[in-house]
Amino acid sequence: MSNAAWVARGEEVFVGNYSRFPATMVRGQGCRLWDEDGREYLDFLAGIAVCSLGHCHPRVTEAVVAQARSLVHVSNLFHTRPQIELAELLTANTFADRVFMANSGAEVNEAAIKLARIHSGEGRYEIISLTGSFHGRTLATVAATAQPKFHQGFEPMPQGFRYAPYGDPGEVEQLIGDQTCAILCEPLQGEGGVLPLGNEYLQALRDLCDQHGLLLIFDEIQTGMGRTGTLFAYEQTGVVPDIMTSAKALANGLPLGALLTTDEIAASLVPGTHGSTFGGNPVAAAAAVAVLEEMLAPGFLEGVQQTGAYFSGKLNELAARFPVLASGVRGQGLLLGLILTEEGIAHGGEIVQRLFGRGMVINFAGNTVLRFAPPLVVSRAEIDQLIAELAEVLAELG
Ligand SMILES: *Cc1c(COP(=O)(O)O)cnc(C)c1O
Repeated sequence: MSNAAWVARGEEVFVGNYSRFPATMVRGQGCRLWDEDGREYLDFLAGIAVCSLGHCHPRVTEAVVAQARSLVHVSNLFHTRPQIELAELLTANTFADRVFMANSGAEVNEAAIKLARIHSGEGRYEIISLTGSFHGRTLATVAATAQPKFHQGFEPMPQGFRYAPYGDPGEVEQLIGDQTCAILCEPLQGEGGVLPLGNEYLQALRDLCDQHGLLLIFDEIQTGMGRTGTLFAYEQTGVVPDIMTSAKALANGLPLGALLTTDEIAASLVPGTHGSTFGGNPVAAAAAVAVLEEMLAPGFLEGVQQTGAYFSGKLNELAARFPVLASGVRGQGLLLGLILTEEGIAHGGEIVQRLFGRGMVINFAGNTVLRFAPPLVVSRAEIDQLIAELAEVLAELG
């Protein structure tokens, strides 16, 4: 059966909440995907910053298969070896002493919200987040997401979330009251348009938290796991959060999320306060152990920095060549955005579709930038190929 026939079957049976590319994917390897017709695609999104070691990385696949042969699930009524090894790797390589595992980004952000509230005590429940942020789609995490378009139709939103415009830390300070317990942000906004908040701004948030006795929560669901050139983005900011969440690339495609925090804060979640049936599932955890071992191997993260600098340089050249459509580049490591002009924004969706027609997968984020989040193992030849196709598409439209 053809790709188009599968797509048509899919459109008959799914809830219509996604606008998918018209492709039914069957196979992935490295930075490449193949659909039901055998058509090849160069994947510069990696399953939305998830398959960071590339599709079907042999070491991850082996870890998954081996674990699936011995034990798939026992719940958190027991310990399992992969979960312990993963928590040890995460704590040894971050500020954190303790880990809680769930299955997705939204779930670990929910856990972070609950932890911030219970740790701060009665009457202190309010969390301040920033315009343009993205923290998930469950009711509490969508309420924390300071973008009204994600709230529309789902009101009333859960209480306890305040939104500050990004830019002046004074705007955050104005919202702090007796009931505030935390400030939540992404060090670099992903979905909102690949926007780094900047070290000075993040330090100002840290200072506000310290002055007012608040917790600083970093959502590193998209920026973590090597994406920005260090294991987590906070390492490059000089600012250390109190709670951090990770998911997306953590297990290279298996569903897994982790909340990381200090001994002192972790102590507030005692038996019975929070949990997850599948969280830290041994198969997903075994995949994540393989991911961390690969990423922590000497040279891996330096490689991400070098490839990111190369890619960013090429995108800057494109922006200079097509000033009518693009005005610059922002981002870090291999989470990069080509900033579009007003004219470019009008063509944003069209650029993505035309690239897809040429077998190149990227997306349009925050209605402002073309977002690139390729597997971290992407080669310079693959970057050159993407750049060449993108240049032709921009030339067609410009
Ligand atoms: C993707 C994302 C989430 C939500 O993760 P899900 O696994 O889709 O629930 C939350 N925060 C950030 C920064 C993300 O990029």
